[in-house]
Amino acid sequence: MTTPSLAHGSPLSLDPYVERALRRRAPRGAIVAEDVAAVERFVGVLFCRVIQTHFNTFVRDVGACERCGTTHALERAHRAGCERPQLLRHAISLVARPHPASNGIEVDAGSLHAAFLRLHRDDAAGRRLLVLCHACHRAYDAENKDTPFREGSAAMAP
Ligand SMILES: [Zn+2]
Repeated sequence: MTTPSLAHGSPLSLDPYVERALRRRAPRGAIVAEDVAAVERFVGVLFCRVIQTHFNTFVRDVGACERCGTTHALERAHRAGCERPQLLRHAISLVARPHPASNGIEVDAGSLHAAFLRLHRDDAAGRRLLVLCHACHRAYDAENKDTPFREGSAAMAP
């Protein structure tokens, strides 16, 4: 009897990790900016860290590069067609409300955090985060750099 490896196309779902992250403390406050792109610039680095913080355990549980099997220098890689900036932009557009006083938009930080995390739920094509080593991550992104954004049908299920 062999122990199944989680590497090389692991079937492990990201959903339980998303649900756990949704139960944790969310940022508070509101962001007022001129448009979606301005909010994206403002929170981009913060939400990069959100992914690192909430999905570190996932990387550890997969435990090896899903392409080459190495256990060194593992990184989270967004699946082609649902890269982090695209998911963030989509999440902002879902929760943004008009802010008439500034003629811009207002985004509740907690709502954005939740929407962004929900967009990481598995969709029909499977898991949205891969675990790849640094070299495989760069190769994967280079191979898929022209893949168009796909919103995913199950993304916003409550
Ligand atoms: Zn690798």
